[in-house]
Amino acid sequence: MGVAREAFEPASTLELLDRLIAFPTVSCDPNRELIEFVRGFLVERGIASELYLAERGRKANLFATLGPTDRPGIMLSGHTDVVPVEGQAWSKDPFRMTLDGEKAFGRGAADMKGFLACSLRLAHEAARRELSIPIHLAFSHDEEVGCLGVRSMIDGLALRRVRPRFAIVGEPTSMRIATGHKGKIAARATCCGVEAHSALAPRSLNAIHLACEFVAAVRDQQNAIEQGATRDGAYDVPYTTLHVGRINGGTGLNIVPNRCTVDFEIRNIADDDASAILGRLADAAARLVAERRRIFPQADLRIDALNAYPGLATPADAEVVRFMSDLVACEDLTKVAFGTEGGLFAERLCMPTVVCGPGSMDQGHRADEFIALQQIDACDRMMDRLLQACL
Ligand SMILES: [Zn+2]
Repeated sequence: MGVAREAFEPASTLELLDRLIAFPTVSCDPNRELIEFVRGFLVERGIASELYLAERGRKANLFATLGPTDRPGIMLSGHTDVVPVEGQAWSKDPFRMTLDGEKAFGRGAADMKGFLACSLRLAHEAARRELSIPIHLAFSHDEEVGCLGVRSMIDGLALRRVRPRFAIVGEPTSMRIATGHKGKIAARATCCGVEAHSALAPRSLNAIHLACEFVAAVRDQQNAIEQGATRDGAYDVPYTTLHVGRINGGTGLNIVPNRCTVDFEIRNIADDDASAILGRLADAAARLVAERRRIFPQADLRIDALNAYPGLATPADAEVVRFMSDLVACEDLTKVAFGTEGGLFAERLCMPTVVCGPGSMDQGHRADEFIALQQIDACDRMMDRLLQACL
């Protein structure tokens, strides 16, 4: 494992961002080299870290504490993985930071290596000071594929006698404080019919047709929710959404298909229960199948949850919100459309959590992703105030 040992003097945020972007940590690939770079950087400054390994050590989460370890502190949380670049028209090397105008380009610049770089610069500053309140760094893997990686670190934190007091998840919010995001269930409906020559189609059971009726049930649920009263006006789409993202079925036009899968998701606001909505879809599926089974005993429509994470709904008057408002000198609160690890911190660890980080998700997941240098400065200033608050 190549451990980078070059000393950073001074450790500027941009130099750190440059190093972080150069690790091509797409979720399907290892992040271990990036983690070892971070660990080496911290070791040079006398800061120990703990790793939570996955995939036989190809991937890891890192947890480190700056300052005293016998009391709860402020946790800075970020993911190290990035989304793929395939199929995107990049005009620059995605895994090399390019400075152009007042922007730094590169995959992960906004989502969310900019925040990681600011956190490491803070570690460099904090290592030379005496902290009375600790600052924790929690860097995860496999966030982009459904907040999967962080769960082993959460299991580890749950066993600790002393847990962090607050979490700040540094996803890009243009440094605004986000108190919430929607929860999500991703699921697959597997529809089973009976194959036949298409010339005899009415005598068999077409799995794609069955799937289409299930899709109609998904849309009925969405319509009912849209017309219902449960709303959260802080979101761009102020209600729970359902969506079918992929259908896979059939082998040839002259064969009545016997299998079709429908991948769909539910993104729920805090006042809706995603499991209950999934339950209603399961009831609808059972009704669709019951009718068919009288003639076709093989008829089936099974729903499997593929992944889920809870929403985040931190009260606007929570202590973490006041604490953060002081750090960013802004009282303005928002909620974000995308999911984060914050929902898991709040649910599994009862850890008051806000989302606040540099850059905008408008630039995330796209070709020529960038972060405005002014956003990096704003995050560095927030980190400086955090350090002051922890001395
Ligand atoms: Zn992200």
